[in-house]
Amino acid sequence: MQRTAIHTITFTARCESGLHIGGSQDELAIGGSDNPVIKNPETREPYIPGSSLKGKMRGELEKQLGRFGGEKKDRPCGCGSRKCPICRLFGAHMKPQNNLGPSRIIVRDGRLRKGGSIENKTENIINRQTGAAQHPRSNERVVEGAEFEMQIVLQVFDLDEQFSYTDHNDNSHQGDEALQAVVADGLELVQTTGLGGGTSRGSGAVSFDDFKLDGELWTHWSA
Ligand SMILES: [Zn+2]
Repeated sequence: MQRTAIHTITFTARCESGLHIGGSQDELAIGGSDNPVIKNPETREPYIPGSSLKGKMRGELEKQLGRFGGEKKDRPCGCGSRKCPICRLFGAHMKPQNNLGPSRIIVRDGRLRKGGSIENKTENIINRQTGAAQHPRSNERVVEGAEFEMQIVLQVFDLDEQFSYTDHNDNSHQGDEALQAVVADGLELVQTTGLGGGTSRGSGAVSFDDFKLDGELWTHWSA
């Protein structure tokens, strides 16, 4: 097994609504919010943890492709099959012994580039029996319009030459191109469904833009 390429995919993530990615409860004393957003401890600026984006990409691709693990099919895919885009890109869940090689994708933390003010969104929880509003819960959100610089590193190995993938536009790809297409589909799905907490209540709408692969226009991103 030999690595044949390391690609760097860069792009901008823009908040199209308030964004809530939860931070540490240690913030309580400082911020006074029940539910603070994650911030860089040095600069106090919000950021997008790479693990959040990566986890959401994986989860959405698993739903799209119908690939889950565990007896109840409610866990991340751990099939370890050579044909499985999830296990190849992200690693086979709880199955370190497989022939797929290391996970191909590294998602860096997204650093704030523009905006970044924090708002407190208060949500009343309605008691279903009495209809009365209970203790309101405040959620911090990064204000709409904030922009973050994102970076994904994609490793390609010689054993990926045999990997094929049909993207959501029904175009088939092979090898290096196929891995890139899985990444692009994952990002499309996050753009459609949102990021962070409270997406069903209007938070977390994000749009991705300015895609570059190794400094050149990335053709797999057509949006
Ligand atoms: Zn799998």
